[in-house]
Amino acid sequence: MKVPFNVLNKTYFMKQEEYEKKALDVLRNGWYVLGNEVKEFEKEFADYIGTNYSIGLDNGLNALVIAFRELGIKEGDEVIVQANTYIASVMGITMNGATPVFVEPDEYFNIDAEKIEAAITEKTKAICVVHLYGQASNMDKIMGIAKKYNLYIVEDCAQSHGANFNGKRTGTFGIGCFSFYPSKNLGCFGDGGAITTNDEKLDRDFRVLRNYGSEKRYYNEVVGYNSRLDELQAGLLRVKLSHLNELTEEREKIANRYLSEIKNLKIELPKVRKGATSVWHLFVVKTDERDKLQKYLESNGIGTVIHYPIPPHLSKAYEYLGYKAGDFPITERYAETVLSLPLYNGMTEEEQNYVIEIINQYE
Ligand SMILES: *Cc1c(COP(=O)(O)O)cnc(C)c1O
Repeated sequence: MKVPFNVLNKTYFMKQEEYEKKALDVLRNGWYVLGNEVKEFEKEFADYIGTNYSIGLDNGLNALVIAFRELGIKEGDEVIVQANTYIASVMGITMNGATPVFVEPDEYFNIDAEKIEAAITEKTKAICVVHLYGQASNMDKIMGIAKKYNLYIVEDCAQSHGANFNGKRTGTFGIGCFSFYPSKNLGCFGDGGAITTNDEKLDRDFRVLRNYGSEKRYYNEVVGYNSRLDELQAGLLRVKLSHLNELTEEREKIANRYLSEIKNLKIELPKVRKGATSVWHLFVVKTDERDKLQKYLESNGIGTVIHYPIPPHLSKAYEYLGYKAGDFPITERYAETVLSLPLYNGMTEEEQNYVIEIINQYE
């Protein structure tokens, strides 16, 4: 039996008629950028997350870039971010000229809130909170620190659509930055992203920034971006968003099976913090001989991926920051021991059984 790591078109085939009808509607109506589909999607997505506003964008990286830009974060400023994130979180900071200050993760793979205060200096302007692998971070503690030191909160929600902490969804605590890249929980059929906010002025400014710095056509207030979500993706996202709760429940069910049925002393299963939920963007296990486990699964037809093999501080892109191996030992240890198992919408029961059985036989 073969179980790929992910299969992206299964969610499409689940509701094929709805997606195709929507795509044809958009193609035929002749309005392709910033029209009714984007407007309606923005309302529906803000409703879903629980904010007053959402702004459709071209991708998740630009959501981060625009969020930090709007906050005035620039050269000379520092932004705290967890060291074990996907590199885009860090690029959102550095593309504005600011300096990332890395903090080690906790046992839930999110930023270790107990270590944030030690990283704060007089240059610190914001904390970038990444709800990694789909699990909400320790927001009680983090919001307390942000308040005490007067820091902005930018949430990287690219993996956490719908996850919550104490009943509040990620993306409602600070400025929420979302990606709709195809493999994300709310993935479109190309690139897409969004920002969520409760603040009317921020909402207006984000709309200006995404559209060449103009609110009124040809009257440009600032040097902006072309970072718009297009109508086709917005329309298709509306279809998927209307089914997102079912899709999340399906992921939860698979994750819960893995959590209760995978029993192998060599493999450490992921944990969920009290008060937090996970939408299981990824199911990440840890194991000492990770490469051996990956090869074993591969030879049994099971696809896995490492998220992520090289932490940002050791990437070539960030050589200029001057870090070296050993600077963030917990992060580096995770990079050597994590492995993501197949978990996707449309994964059959037989496929789940097979993954569980093969892992339980691993020695
Ligand atoms: C995917 C991802 C991004 C970037 O989103 P894109 O839409 O691919 O630009 C940012 N942060 C995290 C944690 C991600 O997983």
